[in-house]
This record gives sequence, structure tokens and C-alpha cells, in this order.
Amino acid sequence: DDRTMDANAQENDRLEMTLRPYTLDEYIGQETLKENLRVFINAAKQRSEALDHVLLYGPPGLGKTTLAYILAHEMGGNLKTTSGPSIEKSGDLASILSTLEPGDVLFIDEIHRLPKQVEEVLYPAMEDYCLDIVVGKDRATTHSIRLDLPPFTLVGATTRAGDLSAPLRDRFGIVSQLEYYQLPELEQIVARTARVMDTDIEPDAIAEIARRSRGTPRIANRLFRRVRDFADVYNEGLISQDVAKDALDRLQVDSLGLDHVDHKYLRGIIERFKGGPVGLEAIASSIGEEPGTIEDVYEPYLLQIGFINRTPRGRIVTAKAYDHLKVPYQKNLF
Ligand code: ADP
Repeated sequence: DDRTMDANAQENDRLEMTLRPYTLDEYIGQETLKENLRVFINAAKQRSEALDHVLLYGPPGLGKTTLAYILAHEMGGNLKTTSGPSIEKSGDLASILSTLEPGDVLFIDEIHRLPKQVEEVLYPAMEDYCLDIVVGKDRATTHSIRLDLPPFTLVGATTRAGDLSAPLRDRFGIVSQLEYYQLPELEQIVARTARVMDTDIEPDAIAEIARRSRGTPRIANRLFRRVRDFADVYNEGLISQDVAKDALDRLQVDSLGLDHVDHKYLRGIIERFKGGPVGLEAIASSIGEEPGTIEDVYEPYLLQIGFINRTPRGRIVTAKAYDHLKVPYQKNLF
């Protein structure tokens, strides 16, 4: 019911907070991005300026919010967080902006979903640290007043950089894509989580969880917690490779980390569209998932591991995916 859902969401939020690294040194992976950010942070500090605005894009769970916290921490400011869909009116944004102090970081998640008129308030705020507010009740008395804001850093996050308007994108000095994590990095993340949560885990079990995490720290941490439940109940708390394998199989996470939605997606294209090419909308309605979720959450990883291709005529399932699903491959003549 709703209450347990809430309790679950709260528990997840709490765990995400405890697991979140707070310095760049603790942040695992994304090496190029980290190196660049170190330079920009030091330069801004040397000049006693706010760090330039940062746009981070990439699939969910790769560490965008975490980086925003880290940037605030490294710059010695506070982090204020909000999201595109939750800011409905320009007044909402104005009231958030007016609480900022010098050096603070404002994090806007899903920034591609900001309403257009709100976006326009953001331009002068980003460019000149000021806010133009329209006051007055009628035509005769309406005028705008300009409020100064302290130097601050906007960190925007989005799953798709392409959905951002050009004027907004151009106002970010630093634009960076987060990459899926490599296996050794995911292993470090799982090992760190085990340490933070004071759990015994075998190296092989760390590798097993890392392998099935779809290159995504949030998934690694989620799988870790579920595996730990099985270990607590069946193995006196020790996470061995057997326990990890067994738990992950029961959770329907396969050897490559694909879950039942990935399977439904791939099988849907194979069985109903002969492996493609097929358009996003057609797949979405045939398997009952949102096109946006498929495009932002499921497809990026399947593309990354070479299980699908995107062509001008639609998505195609590759021979590699047929192989993994143990379905005989029939070459498509398109
Ligand atoms: P996003 O904002 O991209 O959806 P988050 O920043 O919320 O992702 O990350 C999800 C979780 O994954 C965080 O709670 C954090 O514990 C973990 N995490 C993400 N990136 C890293 C990283 N580079 N090193 C360690 N843990 C990470």
C-alpha cells in the first residue's frame, strides 16, 4: 500500500544519503570528468569566484546528484536541490534563487522539463547573477525590478542533453556526459558499500554483483542490499558467491544484469517485429512501457553492450542478443 511504498522510498533515500561519497577523491570512476572538475574547482577557488555552471547528462543512477553534492562540498558552499517538473512558475524559481548564498550550488534534476517561462528567468540568473521580477497588478503599473543574486553555481542534470533548448545549454560553461562504469570501478563501489554497511562479502561475490549492475552504481547498491537480505536469512550474514548468484537469479537479474523489462523488450522486438527494424512507439505500446523510460533507461545500456542498433528505420536486435537469449538468429533482410 501507499504507506509501505513511502517507507520504502524513505529507506532508499536514507541509504542513498549514507552511501553517497562527499569528496572527489571518494567518487569512483569518471576519471576524465573528475580530472577536469579538479582543475575548474581549483581555478575558481584561486580567483575567489563561483564555479562555472555544470550540465551533467546520462542515464539515471550514474552519479549526477552525487557529483552536485561533491561540487558544493569542494567549493565550500551548500547544496540546494530541486527538479524541473517541480518548478511550475517563475515565482517558484525566484524564491529558490533568493535563498542562495555566495558559493552555493543549485542542483536542478531533470532540467529538460523546466517550463519555458521558468527557463527564461534562469538565463539572467546564470549569466549575470540577477533576477528580473515583474511586479504590478495591471498594465499601467507593471514594471520589472532587477534583484542581484550572489555568485552561485547551477548544476543541471538530464537524461537527454538533446532535449535541452539551445539557449539553456549554451549557458553552461561545463557540459559533460557520465559514462557507464567499468567492472573494476563497480567492484570498488560494491566493496565500499559493503564496508559502509559493515557486511562480510567474498571477493567473488563482489564481482558477481558488479557484473550484473548494468554499469550503474545505483543498481549495484540496490542489488547489494537485496543480496545482503538473502545472506542474512540463509548464510548468517556472509555474502558468498553462491548466495549472491542464487539471490540475483531469484531477483531475475541475468548474468549480464538484464532484468525482466530488458528481456520483455528484446523478446518483444524478436517475436512481434521479427527482430526489427521497429520504431520506439510501436515497441513501447506492444510491451506496455513508456517510450521515454525505454529510451532513457533501457536502451542506452542495450546499445552500449551491442544488443541493439539504432537505424534510421528503427531499432534492430543484434545477433549477439539472440545468442544471449538462446534464440536462433534469423538475419533480417531490410
Ligand atoms: P543520478 O543523479 O545520476 O541518478 P545518483 O548521484 O543519485 O545518480 O547516484 C545513485 C547512487 O549511486 C548514490 O547514492 C551513490 O551512493 C552511488 N554512486 C553514484 N556514483 C558513484 C560513484 N562514482 N562512486 C560511488 N558511489 C556512487
